[in-house]
Amino acid sequence: MKILSAEFIKSCPDPEQFPRDRLAEIAFAGRSNVGKSSLINSLLGRKGLAKVSGTPGKTRIVNFFRITTGDSWRRTFYAVDLPGYGYAKVSKSVRAQWGPMIEGYLTGRADLRGILLLLDVRRREQHDRTAFEWLRGIGPQAIVVATKVDKLARGQRRGALEAIRRELGLDETVPLLAYSAVTHEGRTELWGAIRALLDGAG
Ligand code: GDP
Repeated sequence: MKILSAEFIKSCPDPEQFPRDRLAEIAFAGRSNVGKSSLINSLLGRKGLAKVSGTPGKTRIVNFFRITTGDSWRRTFYAVDLPGYGYAKVSKSVRAQWGPMIEGYLTGRADLRGILLLLDVRRREQHDRTAFEWLRGIGPQAIVVATKVDKLARGQRRGALEAIRRELGLDETVPLLAYSAVTHEGRTELWGAIRALLDGAG
């Protein structure tokens, strides 16, 4: 995918500050340290655009990046970096901090086309299942992305993905992709899935 521009627009601690220009949005969500910032940078081919390994705990900040793609598929949209849902037990943190913030975002954005739910391919936790079920209940079209796939031997990957599909109870309507921000493996497939969301085919 050719990226003509990728700019950080703003960090919003408060929904009042979210952009109002009605561009389509794709949101990125996942537990802190899952590799969300690294994936955003890899996907956009921009080192340092999203801050890697920021201190966990900034659970209320939503970052907006404005992306313009080029060549045969020209689109401008926001990549929306949602706050990581923390190391604390998800039931607590979802309700206490992350939950209201994310729910406010997800239910209030008419131009949200879909959400990428990230989970570490090696560390599957009950957190992820709880978060995923909750997100699905709210409704945006989801793509599940297993991150850090370079950490698994090639022969282990298919089994790991099958286990994730089973454990999360994903039916075939939910794309499940593997990604590595180190090797950029999965980039073409993820762009394909994002493109389908933005074209309304997802
Ligand atoms: P975030 O908190 O979800 O934004 O996660 P970061 O992008 O800051 O990444 C957390 C840690 O995982 C950092 O030390 C990254 O270098 C590492 N990391 C992120 N993505 C990958 C990946 O695809 N492969 C490997 N091997 N490490 C990764």
